[in-house]
This record gives sequence, C-alpha cells and structure tokens, in this order.
Amino acid sequence: MSHTRAVNAEPGRRYDAIIVGAGFSGLYQLHMLRDRLGLDVRLLEAGDGVGGTWYWNRYPGARCDSESYYYCYTFSDELQDQWQWSERYPDHNEIRRYLNHVADRLELRPNIQLGTRVTQATYDDLKNSWLVSTGNGQRFEAQFLVTAVGCLSTANVPSIPGLETFAGEHYHTGRWPDNGVVFEGKRVGLIGTGSTGIQAAPVIAEQAGKLTVFQRTANYSVPARNGPVDQSFRDWATTNREAIRAKSRSSVNGHPFDVSDRSALEVSDEEREQAYQAAWERGGLRFRATFKDLLTDEAANETASQFIREKIHNIVKDPATAEKLTPRDHLYATKRPPIDTHYFETFNRDNVELVDIKATPIVEIVPEGIRTSDAFIPLDVIVFATGFDALTGPLLALNIEGRGGLQLKDAWAHGPRTYLGLQSPGFPNLFTITGPGSPSVLTNMPIAIEQHVEWITRCIAEMRNRGATRIEPTPTAAEKWVQHVNETAQATLLPMASSSWYLGANVPGKPRVFMPYAGGMARYEKICGEVAGKGYEGFLIS
Ligand code: NAP
Repeated sequence: MSHTRAVNAEPGRRYDAIIVGAGFSGLYQLHMLRDRLGLDVRLLEAGDGVGGTWYWNRYPGARCDSESYYYCYTFSDELQDQWQWSERYPDHNEIRRYLNHVADRLELRPNIQLGTRVTQATYDDLKNSWLVSTGNGQRFEAQFLVTAVGCLSTANVPSIPGLETFAGEHYHTGRWPDNGVVFEGKRVGLIGTGSTGIQAAPVIAEQAGKLTVFQRTANYSVPARNGPVDQSFRDWATTNREAIRAKSRSSVNGHPFDVSDRSALEVSDEEREQAYQAAWERGGLRFRATFKDLLTDEAANETASQFIREKIHNIVKDPATAEKLTPRDHLYATKRPPIDTHYFETFNRDNVELVDIKATPIVEIVPEGIRTSDAFIPLDVIVFATGFDALTGPLLALNIEGRGGLQLKDAWAHGPRTYLGLQSPGFPNLFTITGPGSPSVLTNMPIAIEQHVEWITRCIAEMRNRGATRIEPTPTAAEKWVQHVNETAQATLLPMASSSWYLGANVPGKPRVFMPYAGGMARYEKICGEVAGKGYEGFLIS
C-alpha cells in the first residue's frame, strides 16, 4: 500500500462508475457505460498502456492460443472491418496494437488513467459509494465499481530459498520488461512448463547459449500450426461473421466450432487414430473437440492422452527425456491445455536440457545458479513461467472492503462466493467481469467478456430506469450458485487434475476449490438471461 497521503483526484466529484483495468474487459465496459448509458466513468489502469494481459505478457513466444478471427471484439462491424489480423494466432505485439486501435477508434483515452494501481476499495454504506485509493495516493468515489482485472494477472513467483541472492537477472513471464531480455550466449533457466513455458522454451532456446528447463509436471501439448492469414480466409471470416459470432456464443467454450457428436469409444481403433491424427495436423485447441466425451469420460480421454504421449515419444529422440516429458499423472485437458510451436522438438537441440524437479527438486538458488537435490546448474538468467494466482488473486489484491467492513479476503477465505461470477454478497454495486464462478478461463475470453459487459450494462440501465441505486446478491443465491458451479465441475474430469490452477493448487495455502463455471458458455448465458428476465432473481435491488 502507498504511504503517500491520499488526495482526492477531483474533490467533490462522484463518478457513476470506476472501472479497474484496461484490457479487453475494461475497454469494452468503458465504451458501454459511457457511450451507451451516458455515465460519468473513470478507468484506472496500473500499466502505462492499455492491453491488460497483453500489456504485461511480452515474454518470448507470447501469442494467443485462440484463433485471431474470433479472438476479438464482435460487437461492432465497423471495428471488425477496420482490423486485419496477420497470423492464425496473433502475437502479443499485434494484440496490443489491436487494443490500442480500439481505444483510439472508440475515443476511450480521455476516460482512462494509466500508471494508476488500485490499492484499496471500500464501500461506504451511508453514501452508497465505493471509495477507491491508488498507489499514487489518489482517491476516487463512485457509485459502481467494476473490476476488469483479468483472471491471470497476479504473478506467482515461487518462494525458493536464496532467490534474493541470485547474481544474474530473473524475470516472471507475466511482468516482462518492455524492452525485452537479451539471451544471446547466456545460460538460461526456465522454470515452469504450462502454456507460457511451452511457448517460451523454443524461442529462448534459439537465442540462448544454453537453456535448462525445470519441469515439475509434464504437460500435454498439441501443435498450434501457426501461420499467416491469407485474404481468402479473411473474406470467408467477413462473410460469415454473424454465424461465427452466433456459434461462439452458443458453444460450450466460446469457440466457433462444433464438438464432435461421437464418443471416442464408439468408433474403431483406426477411425479414432485417423480423427486424432487429423486434429493433430490441423492443430490448436480444437483437438479437445475431436470426440464429445474427452472431458467427461476417463476411458475416452485416455485414448487422446495416449495418442499425445506416443507423439511425444516419436518426436523426442532421447527416450529418457521423452519419458520425462510424458504426462502420466493426469489426463489430457484436465489442466488447461497448451498448444505449441516445436516445443517437444526443442528437446532435440544440443543446447537444451530438461531437469525433472519432481525427481530431483530445486533445493535453493545461489548467486551462480540453481542447486537441485543432485546437481548444480550455473545460470545467468532465470525465467519464471510459474503462472498466476488465478481468478481470485487479482481481485483480492485490490483489498476490497464491503458493507460493514467485510473484507473480500475473509468472505472468500474458503473459496470464492459469487452469484453468477458477477457479484458477491456483502459487496453492493461491485461487479466482477469474468469473476470466479463464471466461464471465463474455460472459454474464448473475448466472448465471455462481451457477454458479461453487456449483462452488467443492461443491469445498470434497468436499475436506473427503476430509480434503484443499489444491487447485491442474496446469500442464498450465492450459496446455490457456488453449489451449482461445484456440481458442473464434478460432472467433468476437470477436478481430477490435482495440480491444476483451476483448483488453486499452484499457490501454496490457497483453498482447493474449482473456480470457473464448467457448465458451458451457452448454458451460462441462458441462465444469466433468465435471471435478468425474472427481474434479477437472486439479487436485492433497492
Ligand atoms: P501455469 O499453467 O500455472 O504453469 C505454471 C508452471 O510452473 C507449471 O508447470 C507449474 O508446475 C510450474 N510451477 C509453478 N510453481 C512452481 C514451483 N514452485 N516450482 C516449480 N515449478 C512451478 O501458468 P502459465 O503457463 O503462465 O499459464 C497460465 C494460463 O495462462 C494458461 O493455462 C492459459 O490459460 C493462459 N495462457 C494463455 C496463453 C495463450 O493464450 N497463448 C499463453 C500463456 C498462458 P505444476 O504444473 O506442477 O503446478
């Protein structure tokens, strides 16, 4: 927290809404509240530019794993007409350029205050206001507080003994320096083999003198098959824009493609192999859709898991390294599945080594490198691709205090308690875009974000029409929702992966609760629509 004495940003001014975060969520929410509803809105952003996740994640190889023709806003034909993606999976630079373009086209910048980290937000019951303090000592007051802080924005840097003594450079991928990192000729240690580590390793290996990858849990990955987008594909995407949007919104996971209607267990071995091979060659997250029961039936999933395990053994030349890279403790896609560009091939390079830190754990970091239980690895740079305190971390970091001094961290001590992932009892007029309990990270994010922003906008508009000033869910509605979120997760294989960040398992001491809504995007949107249609059932509006 800042020790600077707080000063009122504009004394006496009470905004209608404060939005926190200038990524996909915050920019669209600002546009909707300001331009659709005519509200007086301020958006506070910690970074020195817009972009959210894509402002911070500039590590080598950082690119989206949803495809560009649907990883974008869909609410405006004009915006879509003005932008052309260059690659199947846009890289972080291109996405940042896109979000800057959106901020300019929608003339959002006058309402955005950059370089401003929110350090505290307190609800004042008498004023029905949120009082928001920032790291640079400013205070803001607003009727509504909308968090657009992302699900994966609080870096998880493991507390390994001796890190502070390390004489080289060390970086977390989610806090990458603007001007990049020079790896040429250096001995680099990369800790973590999630989506990020799997994207970063091949790129770092090409630059570094030597790369050592420290792997705790072996991971499944499918080739991305990235490449340039050609004009005929762009034309197809433009012609079919409405259908792509409709399909994304009516799908399980916000991607505009069908999940097969066949079970992996109802086809012959040859047909199954051909289907996986075709999906492997096409590349991308669509591999999950090869059969309808990959996320619901262990035996079905095992066929996909085994297919990928065999691919790893075919690609990686050294059998011992291949076996270390082969996941055997969880099933495919029960943890968030990565996609890659030559990840497994990277381990065939002479300058790359894999250290299995489950077998030989990291003991300490010393000035010259990392010491495991059986070796010393000298290093010049350590890259932490160790993920995030997902979903709840970014919200708890805001130090939110609700009605009667209720701290969010206490209200959520045993796991997040939300209604629809949009609001939490005891925190009136606080909306969380893609909060825990909503589909968020299980979907194509822009689709999940648009649905949330539009629901929040309609809700605030209807409150204003009714002359209402306060909205908060009932504790009963939240209890039932938490139970429903849990039941939908249990109906899938997702909770089986014990080291998954979906469960909070990557952060020591975090409650083990399956946080996102696994019931599917379409089902979720229908529920949200019905709640609104029934006069915001489960919410207290006054
Ligand atoms: P992650 O999936 O949580 O992976 C973190 C990695 O670090 C795991 O291998 C983890 O091992 C390891 N790790 C964590 N703490 C450790 C410790 N104390 N010691 C050693 N190893 C440790 O994080 P991520 O790769 O940054 O990805 C997070 C999410 O961001 C993804 O799942 C995805 O949703 C999103 N993402 C998306 C893209 C994209 O769109 N292209 C790219 C990157 C990330 P364990 O598995 O054993 O915990």
